[in-house]
Amino acid sequence: PELYAPARVNSMGFDLMHTPTLDVIESARAPWKAHRWAAVPLLNGEAKPKKAVRLINPAASSRSPGTVRNASEADVTKALDNAAVWDAPLEERREVLLRAADMLESHYGEIFALLSREAGKGLPDCVAELREAVDFLRYYAQQATNTPPAGLFTCISPWNFPLAIFCGQVSAALAAGNAVLAKPAEQTPLIAFLAVTLLHDAGVPRHALQLLPGGGEVGAALTSDKRINGVAFTGSTNTALRIRSAMAEHCDPGAILIAETGGLNAMIVDSTALPEQAVQSIVESAFQSAGQRCSALRCLYIQEDIAEDVIEMLEGAMDALVMGNPWDISTDVGPVIDETAQKGIAEHIDAARADGRVIAELTAPTAGTFIAPTMIRVKGIADLEREIFGPVLHIATFKATELNKVVDAINATGYGLTFGLHTRIDDRVQHISERIEAGNIYVNRNQIGAIVGSQPFGGEGLSGTGPKAGGPNYLPRFSAPDLKVVDETW
Ligand code: GLU
Repeated sequence: PELYAPARVNSMGFDLMHTPTLDVIESARAPWKAHRWAAVPLLNGEAKPKKAVRLINPAASSRSPGTVRNASEADVTKALDNAAVWDAPLEERREVLLRAADMLESHYGEIFALLSREAGKGLPDCVAELREAVDFLRYYAQQATNTPPAGLFTCISPWNFPLAIFCGQVSAALAAGNAVLAKPAEQTPLIAFLAVTLLHDAGVPRHALQLLPGGGEVGAALTSDKRINGVAFTGSTNTALRIRSAMAEHCDPGAILIAETGGLNAMIVDSTALPEQAVQSIVESAFQSAGQRCSALRCLYIQEDIAEDVIEMLEGAMDALVMGNPWDISTDVGPVIDETAQKGIAEHIDAARADGRVIAELTAPTAGTFIAPTMIRVKGIADLEREIFGPVLHIATFKATELNKVVDAINATGYGLTFGLHTRIDDRVQHISERIEAGNIYVNRNQIGAIVGSQPFGGEGLSGTGPKAGGPNYLPRFSAPDLKVVDETW
């Protein structure tokens, strides 16, 4: 019989104007000093991890959100040996994942505190991130079927969505019934530790979900073992290519790679755009989350006729941005993730400043790893040699006759994640949407913040393998390639 799929609605989120909600958030922050957060490997068996390493709060480098003990080589071996698929009936898997979603939602105070201290996330981003995490859990629980699992899945997630993308990958792999080995980003193991603890408490068996905190060496070990049937990865294009080579060398030919990687995302604003609407979209797309989203706007093309006015308005809007402690509700732009990131972005801005190409920049607080929002003039997207993963907006102008050339230049980067368009010309929306090679196209709005279920997210070319997260084609990729065909002759 057909199995009952529960109705699903996206999370309602949390109202940051609601006093009781704010009280919960505030009280989760208060006992911080007394409570020492510590992430350790969570194995199906006892772990013997490495020595504790102190983690750093990006907003205040002298403060620590806690410690992590990374997985040792022996822990990785043990995890691989003791992993087993989650063979509970479909209805039970669904119930457990839905319970985990409810538990995550009810722990919002603690989760926001961790997201803020460990990843430097501002409160609105914390709300968005928790919503997305539970939306993923509920979406994949609803989509799960009885198709056999691929087997053993490694999930490697990034620090920029340390809860949402972590939960998205893991819940899809679990909903399909796989055994999962999860490696969170090196910078954000605490939030992953909390998520796995809650998933275990909700009823996911330890053999089906093990957590292995660590850096590149743990990632390499978890992607180069013959027993691995699939890898879900979100991170840089180069790392995805390294994973592909490791899998080609060590895993079976059928092993699956699902990679969501970088982008050189552009927006085109033509002379028919509404300037106020465009400016708001640009500021959000380039600077929200300190520009640390794969989807963020990197290169803005403005039609020459309106460029001067729009840039002036952008300078005004940028000036109004508040930088500072992510926990403060008035903060718009928090820190970047760590010193390495800060240094790399600062070098890029310094080079542009030396060339006289900086149009405007703010001043950053000095206590943490902050980068002030900056606008840089470029000739075009080809000037961006790499993705600058921070609050840096590059601006180019174009003549009315050059629109197709701009589209060609954007496509020529080889990336294809998000694209934004501001225009009031209907035909142009159609023409450009058809021609532009990007996974997610946004018209007359910002180009970040894809919603599970309604805006499946993921790119093409150098931006990833597809399928899109939060869309109907994602979960089937975590299943066995195909069912058996038995042809009998008597
Ligand atoms: N899904 C996120 C968004 O649309 C971006 C995910 C990422 O940065 O990897 O903003």
